[in-house]
Amino acid sequence: MSINIEVARILYEFGELYSLKGDGFRSRAYLIAAQRIESLNDDIRAVCESGKLEAIPGVGKRIAAVIEEYLSTGDCSYLEELRESLPPGVRDLISVEGIGPKTAMRFHGELNIGSIDQLEEAARLGKIQNLRGFGIKSEANILRAIKAYKSIPKRFLLGQILPVIREIEEYMAGFSSVLTVEAAGSSRRMKETVGDLDVLIASKNGEEVVEHFVSMPRVSRVMSKGTTRSSVIIGVNLQVDLRVVSPTNYGSALQYFTGSKDHNVKLRTLALKLGYKLNEYGLFKRKNNQQIAGKTEKSIYKALGFKYIEPELREDRGEIEAAMEGSLPNLIGYNEIRGDLHVHSKWSDGTATLKEIAEEAQRRGLEYVAICDHSKSLGIARGLNEKRLKNQIAKIEKLNKYFENFMLLKGIEVDILADGNLDLSNNVLKDLDFVVASIHSGFKGTAKKMTERVISAMHNDYVSTIGHPTGRLIQRRQPYQINLEEVFTTASKQRVMMEINALPDRLDLNDFNTRAAMERGVMISIGTDAHTPEQLIYLALGISVARRGWLESENVANTHNINGLLRRVKR
Ligand SMILES: [Zn+2]
Ligand SMILES: [Zn+2]
Repeated sequence: MSINIEVARILYEFGELYSLKGDGFRSRAYLIAAQRIESLNDDIRAVCESGKLEAIPGVGKRIAAVIEEYLSTGDCSYLEELRESLPPGVRDLISVEGIGPKTAMRFHGELNIGSIDQLEEAARLGKIQNLRGFGIKSEANILRAIKAYKSIPKRFLLGQILPVIREIEEYMAGFSSVLTVEAAGSSRRMKETVGDLDVLIASKNGEEVVEHFVSMPRVSRVMSKGTTRSSVIIGVNLQVDLRVVSPTNYGSALQYFTGSKDHNVKLRTLALKLGYKLNEYGLFKRKNNQQIAGKTEKSIYKALGFKYIEPELREDRGEIEAAMEGSLPNLIGYNEIRGDLHVHSKWSDGTATLKEIAEEAQRRGLEYVAICDHSKSLGIARGLNEKRLKNQIAKIEKLNKYFENFMLLKGIEVDILADGNLDLSNNVLKDLDFVVASIHSGFKGTAKKMTERVISAMHNDYVSTIGHPTGRLIQRRQPYQINLEEVFTTASKQRVMMEINALPDRLDLNDFNTRAAMERGVMISIGTDAHTPEQLIYLALGISVARRGWLESENVANTHNINGLLRRVKR
């Protein structure tokens, strides 16, 4: 299998290089052949040996010769030639919007530009506008495009990365030389964004493991490859670093590479005080270098005299002190949520019917889902008016008769209007089980104004929780100005919950604010804000925020069964 991917990768590179040379015809031919071979069921080596390479659609004489050479010698002389015929750095230029292969080659030929930085400098100096076919305007466009390219976030959302991690872990775990595999680093701490991935493997055969790793599907570039470590790029720009360690120090390596840095510094200092030395190879007695622990993470924390500290807590936010005092929280578990408290259906801007949502929720083992479609002022999302909401309530009541051990809750995500009033009258809100009140407009208001809007909404007796309480979108939109301290104080007094909205780009409240709310005695609700049934999977992301916010199951409303939940909602 992996050899097919290897061959496909070479053909992909041919395609890219030909496109730079302006040979679109050959470029397409190689790309098509690459795709064919990537998805081929048979081993390409066997196909080659039986002389049937050219029977693969898209593979002609020339491409067959390239494949044959590679399979028999491990080299590809023609690719080398092609690579050398192109100046290094020119391939980067086409990442800038509006610059195609032809233009990139011209920049290089006429101005000797070989990198994005050089292009930027040339544009700043007004050199581009003097080229034939260019002008002041196109030069300004290039500068704008470079700025946009440079501002692309280099970090990924946790929600995007978790499926990739599962894929890598499954792929590597299936290899016989791999004893244990886990992604360490910030993704293990469930930080909301992740820079690159650190994959750690326990094995006695590093070289074999590295070979298997670099031939993983979807690896687009191998940056380095040694006997116990390697770095590759997956897709366009996700860097994955692999380290292979011996089983006897797997735990200490996992602890070391999981971080955070601040947590580890504090832990190492503590170890020194106790007469130990802690590093990625283990916990050692200082006087004779004898290894005390290191096979598992637990053994290290235990040898230092306290309970295991969950990765989500390792941010040096008091967890080491709490561990020493024996007052670590008993964190809410990933399997403790019994229902989802914020889901959209086809009735507003979701994709699924009520029945489809209920079926998917039951498949996932949930006991209830609150249907919280938008209210009428969000016309763009087909928000519900009083009449349509009443129809939906009737429909939910009818459906609920057929479920066993499952219930759809009648709910709404009601807009908090500019004046702090709600978008629907109490006349219909009173018939609902769960009311999420959210701000979707007027984000630019002052802190005073925004705080007043939310506090005014919390004084409505039918509001259960405040949806995405700060309005931020990770890496895209700052939170609106709001005095959360005041909001939490009122929430606690009025017995209104605060939501952890679990959409990957929201995670709002965030970990830090979640903890502040909990410390003020505010109950938390977790809702995925799913607009498709598949998005119910984001519940785990919401739980990760709760864990990073030091929450125990009793702090979260939807750890309770349906009756317990409804009791807590009633104000
Ligand atoms: Zn919303
Ligand atoms: Zn919503």
